[in-house]
Amino acid sequence: MTKGNINVSVENIFPLIKKFLYSDHEIFLRELISNATDATLKLKHLTSIGEISVEYGSPKIEIKIDKEGNKLHITDQGVGMTAEEVEKYINQIAFSGAEEFLEKYKEAGKDTGIIGHFGLGFYSAFMVASKVEIITKSYKDEPAVHWMCDGSPEFSLEETEKAERGTEIILHMAEDSTEFLEESRIRELLTKYNKFMPIPIKFGTKEI
Ligand code: ADP
Ligand code: MG
Repeated sequence: MTKGNINVSVENIFPLIKKFLYSDHEIFLRELISNATDATLKLKHLTSIGEISVEYGSPKIEIKIDKEGNKLHITDQGVGMTAEEVEKYINQIAFSGAEEFLEKYKEAGKDTGIIGHFGLGFYSAFMVASKVEIITKSYKDEPAVHWMCDGSPEFSLEETEKAERGTEIILHMAEDSTEFLEESRIRELLTKYNKFMPIPIKFGTKEI
């Protein structure tokens, strides 16, 4: 471990996100549900214009608590992502957003008014999770992929097996965020943020 002056670089964007980006850590759930909703509505749109011939059916978003495993799962049946899309939309966009954030942060110093104007919705997961996994299969005929990041700028991306189209986000909850493994807390947030969501949300304790 090294100690020294605060050096604002992409390497330490995660603690910055955690500390400043959103004062309210609980909004991670709203961000992830909003992404799941976008992905599902995109699938609906592509189906309606005949771009893809899959049955739209009645997709839902599912939230599961795995208390023993210390994990929260958010699963959708939307468009999913190919490896290339994960690379583009998760890795690159996030890090360019992070760079822009750091530039403004440097300029503005301690002016926290600038915070929250960056497209880092997905990365808000790191406010509550010490490790995040994405398991996703695109509606396109391509292999499913598994992305994993423990909050350092390094991530892993590899092919995996997933039968169903869509995306599963797995949050390994940080020690200071275990409140989000309580059913009552999640239910409270679902009521607060997601009362009028267009895609039904299924919520129950994960069966082990
Ligand atoms: P935004 O939603 O504002 O684009 P995010 O950081 O929340 O920013 O997400 C970045 C991108 O990652 C999304 O635009 C989308 O392309 C992709 N993405 C995130 N979550 C999902 C998901 N559940 N299904 C498919 N794509 C997703
Ligand atoms: Mg988003």
